[in-house]
Amino acid sequence: MADHDILIVGSGFAGLGMAIALKRAGKHDFAVLERAQQVGGTWRENTYPGCACDVPAPLYSYSFAPNPDWSHIYARDDELRAYLEDCAERFGVRPHIRFGAEVTAAQWEADAAHWRLELADGSEVTARLLVAGLGGLNQPAVPEIPGLGEFEGPAFHSARWDHGVELQGKRVAVIGTGASAIQIVPKVAKLGGHVDVYQRTPPWIFPRIDRRISAREKALYRRVPILQKALRGTIFMLQEAIAYPITKRPQVSWVLEWAARGHLRRQVRDPELRRRLTPAYRAGCKRMLVSNDYLPALERANVELVTDGIARIAPDGVISADGHHRAADVLVFGTGFDIERAFRRIRLVGRDGLELADAWADGIAAHRGTAIAGFPNLFMLSGPNTGTGSTSQVFMIESQIHYVLEAMRVMGRRGAATVEVREQAQDDYNAWLQGRMARTVWLTGGCQSWYLDKNGRNGTLFPGFSLEFKRSLRDFVADEYLLEPAPARAPVFA
Ligand code: NAP
Repeated sequence: MADHDILIVGSGFAGLGMAIALKRAGKHDFAVLERAQQVGGTWRENTYPGCACDVPAPLYSYSFAPNPDWSHIYARDDELRAYLEDCAERFGVRPHIRFGAEVTAAQWEADAAHWRLELADGSEVTARLLVAGLGGLNQPAVPEIPGLGEFEGPAFHSARWDHGVELQGKRVAVIGTGASAIQIVPKVAKLGGHVDVYQRTPPWIFPRIDRRISAREKALYRRVPILQKALRGTIFMLQEAIAYPITKRPQVSWVLEWAARGHLRRQVRDPELRRRLTPAYRAGCKRMLVSNDYLPALERANVELVTDGIARIAPDGVISADGHHRAADVLVFGTGFDIERAFRRIRLVGRDGLELADAWADGIAAHRGTAIAGFPNLFMLSGPNTGTGSTSQVFMIESQIHYVLEAMRVMGRRGAATVEVREQAQDDYNAWLQGRMARTVWLTGGCQSWYLDKNGRNGTLFPGFSLEFKRSLRDFVADEYLLEPAPARAPVFA
């Protein structure tokens, strides 16, 4: 007999959302294994100055838990942490969470039809169903720049911010100009020291249409929740519209580029600086960024944009490719994350000893982003090709959670103990998906991005509207799966 019906790994938006959905569906025999001491996932780990979500909060939140108290249209990191803590409490899932429980391996045991999980403390726990909410953006990617080991000052990654390091009046080198770095630079620039921003490729940057939400507006949302729902719906449609040029017709990305060029022109006076900040690839190819304070920060007297490339790190600074040495007291890496490593964090062993790392040797792939052939009773949230280049990841996660609940319902109805996607169904789905992918801006836009693996294949994003993704997960099509009754020792899934 397994210890639990369901084990969920991780308590970010995905794992927590799954736990709440189970609770709401009247299923109580589950546990959430969380390696840290708090819920929050990516929002627990990212605490850098300026950290905020770049998708408007009414949409970047659970559909079933609107929050009338967002301080701004774009939520700040501390608000998102508080929101997730509150959801854990309010929906009664906190007692199900085991904090400090770091899963190192999970093995499918066919005879018992359950998963056996190994934890870092040496203990084990079993469950009939495993839901992985591991997240893809949690393994910092720090480039191997020559000389890095000899740097004498503090050096840290954006997702491992060292709040013990005083930056007031210091010379700070920020490496990278992605979503995290552009939030960090304006804040650090205000601290009175000097900031060198090392840019390899400029991002397309759009206006951030943000505003404070007044006490009156909050009260209105509390009294008339449909108003906030209407706001969410409006934001949803606007974000969804962006998926059209990105995933369907990259030729019309010029509309986005026109908007971003206008923003650049309004925010940066120096034409030479503007030239260096203008991307040479199609908008949307890399993640599109929103900011009102990054570009102006680059014109401050104490900020320099360096575009010559980094040759090496010296003990007391950074040497660019043109041989110029710029002194630095602190190095900040806004250099993104290693997706492949994130998916390999737990050693997953499925049917007949198949390891996930081997199943994914040629690239990550899943059926509808959620199930993987060879891995019975495993569902992955935010898995392969479930990311979005334009809208809220929480929307994608909720679509998947619905699908997992549907799978459980079908298992119960059919008296099945195991469910495993057929290899053919997974292959057909991925052939369709990659066919669509071929025409997206991610493959045709002329850029390199973390969306693509070393073979140039996009295993991270869904090539279409988020509504299409949701629709593809609305029904659990049993024919795509092998559903098997319980072996002698294992009860059916109810
Ligand atoms: P990122 O988008 O991957 O950006 C990494 C940056 O580091 C890029 O500018 C990259 O340049 C640069 N870089 C990498 N290696 C380098 C090297 N060896 N030398 C010089 N520069 C180097 O990482 P991120 O900003 O942490 O964001 C990652 C993802 O997290 C985002 O795409 C987004 O999905 C998510 N995120 C979301 C939010 C939010 O508000 N929702 C906020 C932060 C992050 P190249 O462009 O040339 O590769």
